[in-house]
Amino acid sequence: MQTNFSIAQLADANVAEAESILRNCVHCGFCTATCPTYVTLGNEMDSPRGRIYLIKDMLENERPADEVVTKHIDRCLSCLACMTTCPSGVHYMHLVDHARVHIERTYKRPFMNRITRDALAAVLPYRGRFKAAVVLAKLGKPFAGIMEKISALKPVAAMLRLAPASGVGGKPHTMPGSFAPREERKGRVAILSGCAQPVLDDGINLATIQLLNRIGVEVVLPEGETCCGSLVHHMGKEDQALSLARHMIDVWTSEIEQGGLDAIIITTSGCGTTIKDYGYMLRNDPAYAAKAQAVSKLAIDVTEYLATQELPEPKTPSGMTVAYHSACSLQHGQKIKNTPKQLLKAAGFDVKEPAESHLCCGSAGTYNILQPGIAGQLRDRKIANIENTQPDVIAAGNIGCLTQIGSGTDIPILHTVKLLNWAYGGDMPDELRKGKN
Ligand code: SF4
Ligand code: SF4
Repeated sequence: MQTNFSIAQLADANVAEAESILRNCVHCGFCTATCPTYVTLGNEMDSPRGRIYLIKDMLENERPADEVVTKHIDRCLSCLACMTTCPSGVHYMHLVDHARVHIERTYKRPFMNRITRDALAAVLPYRGRFKAAVVLAKLGKPFAGIMEKISALKPVAAMLRLAPASGVGGKPHTMPGSFAPREERKGRVAILSGCAQPVLDDGINLATIQLLNRIGVEVVLPEGETCCGSLVHHMGKEDQALSLARHMIDVWTSEIEQGGLDAIIITTSGCGTTIKDYGYMLRNDPAYAAKAQAVSKLAIDVTEYLATQELPEPKTPSGMTVAYHSACSLQHGQKIKNTPKQLLKAAGFDVKEPAESHLCCGSAGTYNILQPGIAGQLRDRKIANIENTQPDVIAAGNIGCLTQIGSGTDIPILHTVKLLNWAYGGDMPDELRKGKN
């Protein structure tokens, strides 16, 4: 694509990067076929190609974002299916991240939209605040139907519907500390214990620690951990995202210097995609560029890490049929598509891949709160495809997907690592004991 940026504009490293991405796009439109919003809405402006044009026009003309650009960029899930499909290697993720920052800095959103976004950014990344919000949301659940009818309160209604009906996590096993294997130590890793994930399901970290310990890996939960910044990064709130990223880089760097780390294991793939991108996000920060690169290099999804380990014969062959839902951040963001399925198969599960597995479930960070209409359509489409495989259970590697899909089906749904932990000698996951919450 031809671009017309001035030399002065290109002096800004972020604009120069956006320009080089734009130039790779040859407008072929292959990406439209796999874009969930184009497939759902059928509007070119809600396709990757349409958004790329909008971003180019806004940046080239140094225009503040307007209502139209903001509407179509807000509707983008950042699912990155377009990056998987694009034959020209257009790095849409970095382009849309840059556009979101530009929107955040130059566009004054309508009042309710602004306070909803600010409230999400002030609550979700902080475990204590999020836990309190989930408790309140559970109390507010009966009012979701009334709020649904008032346009400005639809995001609140979406939040209430997504809140778990029971159980709020945050038990001691997600507290800082070191969890050593009983037998000889073969490795030492840190896990990101997370902000929202342990509140919604604390069992994911526990299963990860138990399974890793059982195969001889020491697991560290470093002191001072916070959110990795992913949630606010996708809202264009760059200062907050980079500040959280720098903090986590300091936490992990200190751990690397003290005891050494073989890997930083991530169990929420949305966070994994962002942490693997820290090197890029902080490339222009002389104090953090090298440390950020080092952290990104160590970051690895739990399934990626397990695939490098020698796993024993499974102890609990269940014969269960598992519908594996491939989170976008895992399959498109990190290009991890088959590894989780192979691990589940090797552990004795009968794995089914639902049709349209490339399409997002509508979760996408805060998307299902801020865009509940489109998110609801994508969720229902995803669940219909999953239910067609007639599974006993659904597995996925991202807490957002687990919450989103779980809010619309009675089939038990849980993190892949919980099934693996069970198969290799851990306790049966609560979801399978109780069925649906
Ligand atoms: S597939 Fe790639 S090159 Fe083609 S229009 Fe989409 S982003 Fe541009
Ligand atoms: S990230 Fe997903 S929703 Fe956004 S343009 Fe690409 S395919 Fe479409």
